[in-house]
Amino acid sequence: HAKNKGRSTYSLFNSQLKQSIAESSRLEHLLRAALEKNEFELYYQPQIELETGRLVGAEALIRWHSSDGMISPDRFIPIAEKTGLIDPITDWVMTTACTQAREWQNILPGIRVAVNLSAISFRQVDFVNKVREVLEFTQVSPDCLELEITETAIMADFKEAERILNSLDELGVHLAIDDFGTGYSSLSYLKRFPVDKLKIDKSFVMKLDQNQDDAAITAAIISMAHAMGTKVLAEGVEEKTHMLFLKERGCEEAQGYFFARPMPAADFLVWCEQEGSASNLRN
Ligand code: C2E
Ligand code: MG
Ligand code: MG
Ligand code: MG
Repeated sequence: HAKNKGRSTYSLFNSQLKQSIAESSRLEHLLRAALEKNEFELYYQPQIELETGRLVGAEALIRWHSSDGMISPDRFIPIAEKTGLIDPITDWVMTTACTQAREWQNILPGIRVAVNLSAISFRQVDFVNKVREVLEFTQVSPDCLELEITETAIMADFKEAERILNSLDELGVHLAIDDFGTGYSSLSYLKRFPVDKLKIDKSFVMKLDQNQDDAAITAAIISMAHAMGTKVLAEGVEEKTHMLFLKERGCEEAQGYFFARPMPAADFLVWCEQEGSASNLRN
């Protein structure tokens, strides 16, 4: 019995595996042409300073309008990472986000744009120079660019990450740790990095009023980050009660559906205009 069961589980697994390999290679094929066909777009999600309700930044989130329909970055970024396509995608994202940041400076002075970095791109040779070139080319102040890196990306090679982060810090860009709380980093390690901001992962934030552990973890991350002199942004804020919980504990910034969903650049500006005349909504 056990043997038969093992075999059928195996063949089920095997066919699922085959299916997912077939799907990945189809996506890989589509992905190769996507940059040339201009199928990527950046959406922007507002980042709000809780104390004042002011808009302080925008996270750039990639969207792929493929011939198969919209494909989520959670699906195609891992494939791009395995196939070497991630580096040209990262270049495109950085250039597009900085061009947008430059354009917004006249209307939204000082707004900072945050870009997600894959562990692989972050480690590409000469990455720091690439960032410098993009800033020069787009005429954006380093102060208006934030780079988001995950704990896992840092911990993969701690020494090298330290070196790269230090150079990026010297360049003057802001550094944020994304999805904080889901990896295995220790705060004592992080203390050594020139990190400006921890982004509390949305999995904790989304259940703030249902799960006492998540509330305790969130509160602990905020106070530990503050003890290290690091700012905190909470992602995945969907409810007013969550926003108030965070604000009460001194969390500096937040982003989430409560404020706005990620949106195309043109909609972002329309949202800003509407919010400008209704900014009390957020407090
Ligand atoms: P992330 O950087 O942690 O981004 C946050 C994700 O949460 C985004 O999903 C965003 O749309 C979503 N989100 C924002 N507010 C809420 C909320 O209130 N509730 C819920 N349920 N979700 C919310 P998205 O855009 O699908 O991106 C998923 C992930 O893909 C990102 O997670 C990031 O790791 C990666 N990604 C996105 N754009 C890029 C990119 O340009 N380059 C790289 N390397 N990765 C990217
Ligand atoms: Mg992010
Ligand atoms: Mg995140
Ligand atoms: Mg993430």
